[in-house]
Amino acid sequence: MQIEVVTIGDELLLGFTIDTNAAHLARELASRGVAIVRRTTCGDSASEIASAVRDALDRSGAVITTGGLGPTSDDLTKESIAAIFGRAMRLDDGIVDNLQARWKARGWPGELPKANYQQAMIPEGCDILVNNHGSAPGIWLEDDRGRWVAMLPGVPREMRGMLADALLPRIEQRLTGTPLVIRSRTLRTSGIAESALADLLGPLAKAPFGLSLAYLPGVAGVDLRLTARNLSAGDADALLGQGAEAIRAQVGTVIYGEGNDDLAAIVLSEMRARGLTLALAESCTGGLLGQRITAVPGSSDVLLGGVVAYANEVKVSHLAVRPETLAAHGAVSEATAGEMALGAQKRFKASAALSVTGVAGPGGGTPEKPVGMVCFGLALGDTVKTFSANLYGDRPEIRERAAQAALNALRRALAKHS
Ligand code: AMP
Ligand code: MG
Repeated sequence: MQIEVVTIGDELLLGFTIDTNAAHLARELASRGVAIVRRTTCGDSASEIASAVRDALDRSGAVITTGGLGPTSDDLTKESIAAIFGRAMRLDDGIVDNLQARWKARGWPGELPKANYQQAMIPEGCDILVNNHGSAPGIWLEDDRGRWVAMLPGVPREMRGMLADALLPRIEQRLTGTPLVIRSRTLRTSGIAESALADLLGPLAKAPFGLSLAYLPGVAGVDLRLTARNLSAGDADALLGQGAEAIRAQVGTVIYGEGNDDLAAIVLSEMRARGLTLALAESCTGGLLGQRITAVPGSSDVLLGGVVAYANEVKVSHLAVRPETLAAHGAVSEATAGEMALGAQKRFKASAALSVTGVAGPGGGTPEKPVGMVCFGLALGDTVKTFSANLYGDRPEIRERAAQAALNALRRALAKHS
């Protein structure tokens, strides 16, 4: 089966919104052996939508659209596509009831706005794709030659939910024979450069087990993505398993997780398992470490609190950094970072504390302490360790890399800590 995707929205054409829907659809379908053969984006105009979908339908006979299912005048997807199929639109009472119930359940004032009734207008003879995450139902429209269009919402979370709940099962039913899939598995590393990682991988650095291997550097670290192509799902998963195991055995502890794993979540679960608590002392990250940690549900059983100590006086008054240390070494120094970590550990009576102090830029760099120089402190039990790193990128990147480096130091220390 070959499918074309048409994403709809002026915001996509204008570049204000990145087309993540098309990317998500491509990944999900490829992993099930269904190829997306072409992607088109068009604006919120009835004639543009109709012509893009008609062309796609003529080529492939199977089209998925996203966007334009909302309740406002720029949401024209359903009627434009119904016209291609020669279907009239009708009001669906079941959808109206649903929308009214949702409106009431949320406790919103007044009656369901008139504009919402547009979401209950559907083409004659279509199937409804359930939306468990929002108000706009999706539409499946098929002609007597078996050519079909599936219309999904534009909001990414709703689109992903409807794809999984309603559309993929339908598409899978239509597949004949054993589909050949494209599947990937991603190993996440931190604290190591791409080139050093390739050296460390040695013979696995290129196409291990015939799998393709991509190096994907980002602020979280370098991801290693293994991809298997044109195999049955079972063979692909088995080969990816072998590849991942071999890479883990070769590079060991630089890998902190897989897929979308978040380092903060991993550190938290390691600390929770050991019954440890955490305090933070942040200067150049200004609370970013706290944000990363508290973004993880359930972080309150590990994180006690933190101090954003930006000014030197606050480092002294709130973290007991000694003025002599600041005078002798400066705010960005391992000596200060160590005292910040110790101060936070004591103040919050935590088993561990992390500190960060650095030059995030773009100004403020000196030859001895250039932009990107960041010092870290890690107090764990009775010991305080410090280290520094020269991080690169612009200000937001340096701050994100600093938070990630601090978390990674804690992860590695925990691995050695019983
Ligand atoms: P719509 O269903 O067209 O009203 O779109 C609702 C919202 O979903 C828009 O405001 C966009 O922010 C988002 N959106 C629409 N299409 C896409 C897309 N292809 N990729 C990512 N976000 C999208
Ligand atoms: Mg739209």
